[in-house]
Amino acid sequence: MSGWLAIAGLGPGAEALVTPEVSAALAEATDVVGYIPYVARVAERPGLTLHASDNRVELDRARQALDLAARGRRVVVVSSGDPGVFAMAAAVFEAVESGESGWRDLDIRVLPGITAMLAAAARVGAPLGHDFCAINLSDNLKPWDIIEKRLRLAVEADFAMAFYNPRSKARPDGFARVLDVLRKRCEASRPIIFARAVSRSDEDVRVVPLAQARPEMADMSTVVIVGSSTTRIIERSGAPLVYTPRSVPA
Ligand code: SAH
Repeated sequence: MSGWLAIAGLGPGAEALVTPEVSAALAEATDVVGYIPYVARVAERPGLTLHASDNRVELDRARQALDLAARGRRVVVVSSGDPGVFAMAAAVFEAVESGESGWRDLDIRVLPGITAMLAAAARVGAPLGHDFCAINLSDNLKPWDIIEKRLRLAVEADFAMAFYNPRSKARPDGFARVLDVLRKRCEASRPIIFARAVSRSDEDVRVVPLAQARPEMADMSTVVIVGSSTTRIIERSGAPLVYTPRSVPA
């Protein structure tokens, strides 16, 4: 009986955006480990044990999954989106590096998923069609100064940007400061995409110029995409198309 550990991404929400590879791993699993709302997306069945836990204990959750796999269980750790993007994959490897030596020899695989910024970008066109970066705006795991520095330099480098975890009840002010930084450095017409609950039943996607962007337009279910200076909007009868051209003039 040999156990394994798959660290899988469930995509942004819709069943159709779960990869066949992830579905196959879930079908073979004996145990699913993850944050409560993500584990809730996995169908119960006989022979499958669901271990749902609170989000603040990522490393404990990783150790629990590794321990189960070491005892011969077939374990899937679930994240939303992609597990390597601000999610469980890095937490599992941190636990491997600092944990029992036997864990290094386990069969561990990372199964990619569609990350929020890609699902959001696809909804409006191709805002990430040229160079871009992704920044996690939560200061739970890093000081605010670093966030602001990276933001300033990303604007200077003229990347399009995707912001994950933009605003929570515990951190209501951070995103307002981010908008202030953008307003000082970008033109007022810069397109900002607020993409909430993409691919879920309560999806809400809006595109506004920076001048009209308000902190309340984002919450923890929103990924925010900021265009670069070359990002363009094509107006038409339906929702506008937002895209960033592939090339920048020499
Ligand atoms: N691993 C995930 C990200 C986890 S961080 C991924 O790859 O997508 C959680 C943040 O992801 C949220 O605060 C939000 O910014 C974003 N997010 C996750 N699912 C989303 C969705 N369906 N629509 C919009 N944003 C989403």
